Amino acid sequence: MTKTASSVWVECLSFIEDNIKPQAYKTWFEPIKPVKLSGEALTIQVPSKFFYEWLEEHYIKLLRVALVKQLGEDAKLIYDVRMENNYSSNNPHTVKIPSSNRNPINPQGISFPMDVNKRELKNPFIIPGIQKVKIESQLNPNYNFENFIEGDSNRLARSASMAVSNKPGGTSFNPLLIYGGVGLGKTHLAHAIGVEIKDKYPDKIVLYISSEKFTQQYIDSVKGNSRNDFIHFYQMIDVLIIDDVQFLSGKTGTQDVFFHIFNHLHQNGKQVILTSDKAPVDMQDIEQRLLSRFKWGLSAELQAPDYETRVSILQNQLYRDGVEMPFEIVEYIAKNIKSNVRELEGVLISLIAQASFNRKEFTLALTKQIVDKFVKNTKREVSIEYIQKIVSNYFELDVATLQSKTRKRHIVQARQLAMYFAKRMTKASLASIGSQIGKRDHATVLHACKTVDNLTETDKQFRKYVDDITKKLTF
Ligand code: ADP
Ligand code: MG
Repeated sequence: MTKTASSVWVECLSFIEDNIKPQAYKTWFEPIKPVKLSGEALTIQVPSKFFYEWLEEHYIKLLRVALVKQLGEDAKLIYDVRMENNYSSNNPHTVKIPSSNRNPINPQGISFPMDVNKRELKNPFIIPGIQKVKIESQLNPNYNFENFIEGDSNRLARSASMAVSNKPGGTSFNPLLIYGGVGLGKTHLAHAIGVEIKDKYPDKIVLYISSEKFTQQYIDSVKGNSRNDFIHFYQMIDVLIIDDVQFLSGKTGTQDVFFHIFNHLHQNGKQVILTSDKAPVDMQDIEQRLLSRFKWGLSAELQAPDYETRVSILQNQLYRDGVEMPFEIVEYIAKNIKSNVRELEGVLISLIAQASFNRKEFTLALTKQIVDKFVKNTKREVSIEYIQKIVSNYFELDVATLQSKTRKRHIVQARQLAMYFAKRMTKASLASIGSQIGKRDHATVLHACKTVDNLTETDKQFRKYVDDITKKLTF
């Protein structure tokens, strides 16, 4: 029987399959197509340059053994790298197996007709080693389950996170979306999952990344013509953790690529963990198809911790720092800082710092000073109700008139200003602002915000309204 590219490759594959893990086989060998056999040279087509590099770094020895078995000592392997959409068959990377040792720098004695040194590893998480390529998980070991204090406010999110860590990809919590306000522990929990999985399953490829960094990498890949490499890189991850997905809002290109990566991972039983400052229903400018994916798994909310949990968090922190502090001080902090664990820790750190710099004792007076500073610095979130009161007052209307259906110009303007300030000064969604200001829909609120923006730029009188009301709302 005469050998063909396919027949040779089929034999190679069966040898390779027996020698590596099924997942690796699926990822790195199934996408390869044998395209040509001429003499002892087999040409295979690989989907990207990144793919080619990965094969070179990891599987060159295995490939060589397989090929020599089929084609003898003079076997040659030629890569045909498909760059993006064009088929660059004029420019294949060629690898001769085994080589004639012409290239002493290369320890495996493989010669490359092309200048391989020019190739660049595009993904920042791939660290080229002598033999191994490793993906840095970007996890912070200080964020673990052990020091994540449990309370009513986080019980669901915490136990779902533990379940996912025990069986990544194997629960119905896929994706797991953890959402909640600032400083409530979303990033902490997200890392804790990754850290735990790495501990239990050291072979799993885990990656933590913020959605901003993900977006930046994507933009860079588009600029550098390596969008496919970007996608391939993300598709081989076992546990992908993306922090603060609300920042994907409005970024359609990134959302699109994430959608494809998500589908691939999900279909292959890989785990996806997301965090966000909002529930999926309140996310804006995120494509519907992506939102619907977010809802496939579990959305678990982190709420502000109750008093007991705040005390435990403080005590745990003190215990870890080896600091002793009178209970009345711990109590005072826990009573006065309520809605943000980061601030709770912030007060503790300043207090410890101040006391030790000035060789002071921990006193209630010092604590009060620090807590006051923290409370003042935190922007007070005003309510939509309060905004409507202030705006109505300013225009000498009552709130009912502001909310009414009337189209009188000065009332419409007042209503639009109320919507604008509600958008600017609260975290409420457009829909929720609309429903609270005279039962309007989100499009009306959006239109109001744009109108106010425009008028502020073109109309002096209007600008004065905005300035005056801003002052009233912020004192
Ligand atoms: P987010 O990402 O939600 O803004 P972080 O995860 O950054 O919040 O948490 C802010 C700080 O509060 C971190 O230092 C984190 O360790 C701490 N923290 C939050 N929740 C808890 C908790 N339940 N137990 C212990 N520390 C917590
Ligand atoms: Mg965070």
